[in-house]
Amino acid sequence: MVRRRQLLEQQLAAVLPPDPALVLVTDLDGTLLGGSRSWRQRVYGWLERSREQVLHVFCTGRDLASIARLLSEDADHGLVAPHLVIGDVGCTVACGQSLEPLPLAVEPIEARWQGKPERLLPLLAGVPGLSPQPLTADRRLAYYYDPDTFVPELVPVLEAHGVDCLFSDNRYLDVLPAGVNKGSTLLELLALLEVDRTRVVTAGDTLNDLAMFETGLAGVMVGNAEPALLEHAARLPQTYTAKAHGCEGIVEGLRHFGFGDLLTGL
Ligand SMILES: [Mg+2]
Repeated sequence: MVRRRQLLEQQLAAVLPPDPALVLVTDLDGTLLGGSRSWRQRVYGWLERSREQVLHVFCTGRDLASIARLLSEDADHGLVAPHLVIGDVGCTVACGQSLEPLPLAVEPIEARWQGKPERLLPLLAGVPGLSPQPLTADRRLAYYYDPDTFVPELVPVLEAHGVDCLFSDNRYLDVLPAGVNKGSTLLELLALLEVDRTRVVTAGDTLNDLAMFETGLAGVMVGNAEPALLEHAARLPQTYTAKAHGCEGIVEGLRHFGFGDLLTGL
């Protein structure tokens, strides 16, 4: 383990700032990709200028191929690659620049996923109200679901096989290895990197971000968060509910948590 940890450190040493003042962990759709165009451009420019002070982590339901497309498409808008990526709703961890998965972080998740698709896919085939998402999800199964026709009794049947069913944004169903989500993978990653938790701020907008807010790390629910997520805010004392949407909401939250000094030029 020590040897493998050294390998991870070597792999990341060239890409991570040595002593960041802030570790900013952002969901993408509705959060870092949300808000007005002008605010998005301002925040993307600030992230690019602040790479030595701000260690930026994407924490998203997207898979690596989708993130790669986003970074190439959005280059015009100034969104630069983060330092690190948590993708597939917590089931993938990768270097932000190369999008190469980090084995030390991914292999424990892979081990928990072994044998699951073979058992689950027959149970999910032809289920009313479900359709597979057109992506190559790793270590999870990704579906669209119709809240009006999907039969919730299927959930305990699936979860008996050692998975969690995660519903989000009234349209996404992710079937994940039990106990793996954005929050659990983020905590594992922070431990691997020996990050000071008081420097971490997370931000998100839908139910698949709830596990990040439940870590107890400082969190920002952006103003456009889905109502089903906002219902949880009252029991999460480390979570701030922003008024502003998307990128502007992230900035509002960073000021709330005392990181205003870092927001130069915004
Ligand atoms: Mg989102």
